[in-house]
Amino acid sequence: MSSTAGQVIKCRAAVSWEAGKPLVIEEVEVAPPKAMEVRLKILYTSLCHTDVYFWEAKGQTPVFPRIFGHEAGGIVESVGEGVTDLAPGDHVLPIFTGECRECAHCKSEDSNMCDLLRINTDRGVMISDGQSRFSINGKPIYHFLGTSTFSEYTVLHVGCVAKINPAAPLDKVCVISCGISTGYGATVNVARPPKGSTVAVFGLGAVGLAAAEGARASGASRIIGVDLNPKRFEEAKKFGVTEFVNPADHKKPVQEVLAEMTNGGVDRSVECTGNINAMISAFECVHDGWGVAVLVGVPHKDAEFKTHPVNFLNERTLKGTFFGNYKPRTDIPGVVEKYMNKELELDKFITHSVPFSEINKAFDLMLKGESLRCIIRMDG
Ligand code: NAD
Ligand code: ZN
Repeated sequence: MSSTAGQVIKCRAAVSWEAGKPLVIEEVEVAPPKAMEVRLKILYTSLCHTDVYFWEAKGQTPVFPRIFGHEAGGIVESVGEGVTDLAPGDHVLPIFTGECRECAHCKSEDSNMCDLLRINTDRGVMISDGQSRFSINGKPIYHFLGTSTFSEYTVLHVGCVAKINPAAPLDKVCVISCGISTGYGATVNVARPPKGSTVAVFGLGAVGLAAAEGARASGASRIIGVDLNPKRFEEAKKFGVTEFVNPADHKKPVQEVLAEMTNGGVDRSVECTGNINAMISAFECVHDGWGVAVLVGVPHKDAEFKTHPVNFLNERTLKGTFFGNYKPRTDIPGVVEKYMNKELELDKFITHSVPFSEINKAFDLMLKGESLRCIIRMDG
């Protein structure tokens, strides 16, 4: 056991005190893990747009003060009672949606929506006792997505931790812990484009570009990228995107533009923007008879999806997914192996890197649409 096991650890964490205000590096106390929990030392974390939405709290429930962060890599520091499949020193990826391995979802081959540990964006406490493991002078600081990786140490339920190959570089594979698996899995596990098909990807951030990679791996012959940010188009060529559409360049709705380009509609579409209008376009642009659209973006809490029912009668399918339908503990070690075997490239998703002390720069880069993934180095 490590010398810190069972003790409160004092460490640095980036605390978000108020919606939209820069994070502040504070000394926090991190309580030891309780039963079925583990405490991790985070080495690298990155920023996903989901962190930014809940930090801005414009279209999401405000829960503050909070420690954000869910895409990361680290090492197990200590484990709580009852934890048998993880030990101090294990290399792991924290995952924002868990796998208890006992509920009907975990036992189903089709679902990753674990009854106990599925994503919950509004809960700021641990499931076992409704308490936070973080505090400053005795005042609790809330968790985010059960992961809170913008802290040198954090506590998770064991079901939200994937044990990976210790030879995998954590500064790279940390992006598998959310964005890359989400986008890639949305295509290969959910949209499942047949070989030779045409796939539209809405939103060319890291999640959308991973969806494009999934389309290329599936043998799609045309991959059409849709984004409002023209800077994204040059970069997207590296991810197999063959054509580009900027909705701002057209007077007619983008679904009509796509239908004209593809003789009636694309075979598959994957939406990775979080914008409700893009979600509707992504559905309406698929071909009648066989088209499948997959929603991935996290919508505004009051968003409503509106389309004419005849779009369904005409044999189009609409689906959605969290985490690309991967089961975190069972499937993610294999996604890491894909990187190790050079079947999945990660480096091109990592456009920036900053020390932890400059974490707010990662937010600026994402808000300006300049970064795909910015790695935050916890030792800096
Ligand atoms: P990002 O900000 O890097 O990329 C989003 C892209 O969408 C940007 O390039 C932006 O210009 C583009 N965009 C925004 N509105 C658009 C519109 N109306 N039409 C076309 N393009 C538009 O974000 P990201 O980190 O890649 O995340 C993408 C989305 O996926 C976010 O909504 C995020 O919350 C969500 N997400 C979902 C899951 C899940 O499990 N379902 C997991 C991770 C992220
Ligand atoms: Zn994410």
